[in-house]
Amino acid sequence: MSDITRARVLEHLRRLYLLHVADRLDGLLDDAARRDLSYMDFLDEILQAEAASKADKRVRMGIQIAHFPALKTLEDFDFAAQPGVDQRLVRELATGRFVAQAHNVLLFGPPGVGKTHLAIGLGREVIKAGYSALFVTATDLLAALAKAEVEGQLAAKLAHFAKPKLLIIDELGYLPLEKRSAHLFYQLVQRRYEKSSILLTTNQLVTQWGQVFGDEMTAAAILDRLLHMSHAQVIQGDSYRLRQKRKAGILGAKGD
Ligand code: ADP
Ligand code: MG
Repeated sequence: MSDITRARVLEHLRRLYLLHVADRLDGLLDDAARRDLSYMDFLDEILQAEAASKADKRVRMGIQIAHFPALKTLEDFDFAAQPGVDQRLVRELATGRFVAQAHNVLLFGPPGVGKTHLAIGLGREVIKAGYSALFVTATDLLAALAKAEVEGQLAAKLAHFAKPKLLIIDELGYLPLEKRSAHLFYQLVQRRYEKSSILLTTNQLVTQWGQVFGDEMTAAAILDRLLHMSHAQVIQGDSYRLRQKRKAGILGAKGD
């Protein structure tokens, strides 16, 4: 191969954004020569490597954009330790189909049972399936909306939170909301309704949502939209962390 041809190939690879191949051209050529690959097999291999590298990059960027608060995966989730979690449902949700259908997911349960872990794990799978996701706590979400409203930027902020295909809202109900916040929350839910998915985690059963939102009517309107086309998982049982500590003998046995 002449230097001119090599330079032209490299330039075309870069212009076509086939950067994975461009960065490894010499190695790939040597390898193909050594293994005596056919033209078709060579083409197949380099295109596969380029496609895999692009997919990898897309997932890594998607995960960065999602702002997950911790690195948690479904592989790390110990289903045996939490028999209350419907593993089949989680596997189904992990395909990302619920996002394609704009269905919502609601995870209910007391602190420490793995709601946030599952939410992040599912978020990662949804991104791998090709969708955008954004993680936010209910507190941060409402603070951002309230601030935007004061600054006359509410429409833009609502658009920001309406955009990702999956919005994960963590920890609803830890603090009761003011009436205005409840209404802002309603506006966001309404914006996303039947268009894109919300994955919500909460420590409050729906019967308590009137108190969470400080108003039965608003709570009912929010619930109506969230629950329509939704998958719900109630996780009962002990805090995983406390159980680990109990196992390690740091805490007394349950009931002590
Ligand atoms: P929640 O959001 O319900 O309060 P978290 O998801 O924050 O609970 O879980 C608390 C901690 O315990 C996290 O570090 C999480 O990774 C871990 N954890 C909870 N349940 C499990 C589980 N079944 N398998 C592995 N780790 C778990
Ligand atoms: Mg949590």
